[in-house]
Amino acid sequence: MAHIVELGSRIELVSMDKHFHDISLGLYQQAAEDGSAEYIVHSYADIKGVDERIRFVMRAMQVLGGMEVLANGGLRFACGDSHVTACRRLFLEASKVAPDVMPEVRPMTVYDKKTEYEYSLTLCGNGLYRVAAQAQLDEFARRVNVIAAGLRKLGNMAETKNEDEVLFSCGAAHDALIGMLLVRAPNVRAVMREEDSAARQGVLAAPSSQSV
Ligand SMILES: [Zn+2]
Repeated sequence: MAHIVELGSRIELVSMDKHFHDISLGLYQQAAEDGSAEYIVHSYADIKGVDERIRFVMRAMQVLGGMEVLANGGLRFACGDSHVTACRRLFLEASKVAPDVMPEVRPMTVYDKKTEYEYSLTLCGNGLYRVAAQAQLDEFARRVNVIAAGLRKLGNMAETKNEDEVLFSCGAAHDALIGMLLVRAPNVRAVMREEDSAARQGVLAAPSSQSV
C-alpha cells in the first residue's frame, strides 16, 4: 500500500495476527474529500506477503460490513457515517477470518446457546432494526432485550423507546454490518473480556519488536 501517504489516525490494533506471522495490524481512519469517513488497514511489518494479507482483511471487512471500496483502495460505508465503534469490531472480526475461507455476509439470525433458541433481526426502515424470537415467551422476550442491548453496545447504536429495537442514527440500512455484530451480541461480556486481554497483550508487546 505504498501509494497511501497519509494513514490518518489509528483507531484499532490487532497486536498479534495469528493468521499471519503474529504481525500487528492497524485500522486507520481518515476524512475523505467529501467529509465522509474512510478506513484503511496498514502494517509496518516488513514481511513478504503482508500486502496480500492486508488485502484479505480489507476484503473481509468489505463483505462482512457491507462497505464500499474507494478508488484509492480505502473502505467506507455507503451512508458516509463513520460508525467507528462498529467498524473497529468489524476490523477485529475480519482479522479472525481464516485466510483459506471466503468471507461471507452473516445472516440476520443468531443461535443463542443460553436459551437454546434462535433470534432474528428485521429491518423496519430508516436504520431501525427489531430483534425477535419466534416464540412469544417471557424467557425469550428478556433475552431479546439482552441481545438488542448487546448490539447497541457493540455498534454504538441508538436506543429507541422500545427495548427490542436498535437504531443506526444515519437512518440507513446496514444488514451485513448488523449481521456481523449479531454473532457476538448474546455474549457481549465475553467480547469485552477478550478485548481487555488483547489490549493488555498490545501493551506488553515491546515497542522495539512491534512498531505500529
Ligand atoms: Zn450508516
